[in-house]
Amino acid sequence: MSARNADTLIVGGGIIGLSIAWRLARTGHRVTVLERDTAGAHASRMAAGMLAATAEVGYEEFDLYALCTHSVIRWASFASELEEDSGIPVDFRSEGTMVVARDPDAARALRRAFEFQQEHGFEVQWLTRAEALEREPFLSPRIAAAVYAADDHSVDNRAVIHALVAAIRKLGGRVEEQTAVTEITMDASGSNHHVRTAPGNTEWTAPQIVLAAGAWSHGVPGLPDEVRPPVRPVKGQILTLRMEAPFKLEHVVRGARAYLVPRSDGRLVIGATSEEMGFNTELTAGGMWSILDGARELVPGVHDLPVMETNVGLRPGSRDHQPIVGWSAVPGLFVATGHYRHGVILSSATADAAADALLGRDMPTIMHPFSPTRFQTQA
Ligand SMILES: Cc1cc2nc3c(=O)[nH]c(=O)nc-3n(C[C@H](O)[C@H](O)[C@H](O)COP(=O)(O)OP(=O)(O)OC[C@H]3O[C@@H](n4cnc5c(N)ncnc54)[C@H](O)[C@@H]3O)c2cc1C
Repeated sequence: MSARNADTLIVGGGIIGLSIAWRLARTGHRVTVLERDTAGAHASRMAAGMLAATAEVGYEEFDLYALCTHSVIRWASFASELEEDSGIPVDFRSEGTMVVARDPDAARALRRAFEFQQEHGFEVQWLTRAEALEREPFLSPRIAAAVYAADDHSVDNRAVIHALVAAIRKLGGRVEEQTAVTEITMDASGSNHHVRTAPGNTEWTAPQIVLAAGAWSHGVPGLPDEVRPPVRPVKGQILTLRMEAPFKLEHVVRGARAYLVPRSDGRLVIGATSEEMGFNTELTAGGMWSILDGARELVPGVHDLPVMETNVGLRPGSRDHQPIVGWSAVPGLFVATGHYRHGVILSSATADAAADALLGRDMPTIMHPFSPTRFQTQA
């Protein structure tokens, strides 16, 4: 059989495509990821790596909250299985998250969110200023209050990408980098779909195709129009500082205008703007200023830390800001995109559910609200 045949071809090698490939490769399934850049080079590399079900989810997003919670719980074993398969540590940290109110107005809003979270059974704890400072001494002494979310964790998403690529290859799967999909042709009889790639005008065939092209998912050439997912890029500017003694942050810290995510190797990731700017990836003074100013009012010590990196990523935002995961209306085409601000956290649940579907099993019911067919029904 030609090396360019597979059981499943995955278009896009971000954290979503790679996670699905890894879960499939573990079963002996012949899976190939086609990535036009290097694996994980886009949103998945730029992300902060928060696994934040509690702090991230809005008041009415119950289905998304259930999915995020399920994903975070799954992350502990997902991370250890990945470390085992790849031999690469992924810095899964379970210190929890401090959501901080900088002044009494912010504290009132935080209190409403806290009461809502408590009503719905989230693991949250109200902290006075003194209690918050005792847990995280580098917080500003001027903050008003904080909520401790015990179940909101973090992971080094870049390490996760390296680990996924290594694990897929060790398990016999393929990750083809610098390989851009230029045309998808879905076979009407549903059994032998074709994908063309550049450079080389190479043809690949498989009975199943997964569309996991992140912010570019809508525009992949050759997709039938009726199944093009309504996904757009949402720009995020983010930067990394280096923590230097005596400065050290133990928890993820979040405020209204910025979040700070410490890594065990001393990096401190600070993010992120959220901008509707199409595919623009320019770093701006205003973007950097707003997140640094937001971070400094919560944790003044960041002022003196050296800058290691500045970055811009494009989140794949769907029309309703919820992920799009499931079989499309075209037989053989599975969609896994639209993960917006939650692609790292949701990679675990998405990969499990997608692997179930692609291996011929039912998808877990928790994923049903996120089917791509919800947009067709609306149309
Ligand atoms: C600043 C920022 C901070 C974030 N922080 C967090 C966070 O803390 N926690 C969290 O859960 N999420 C976070 N996110 C969101 C998360 O990064 C995304 O939801 C996630 O990375 C999406 O993964 P993906 O694989 O769908 O997309 P991507 O990582 O963008 O991958 C898609 C891939 O498809 C490839 N591709 C596109 N078209 C083609 C083609 N024609 N042929 C071949 N390949 C193609 C691209 O090159 C790309 O590598 C953040 C995002 C940003 C930008």
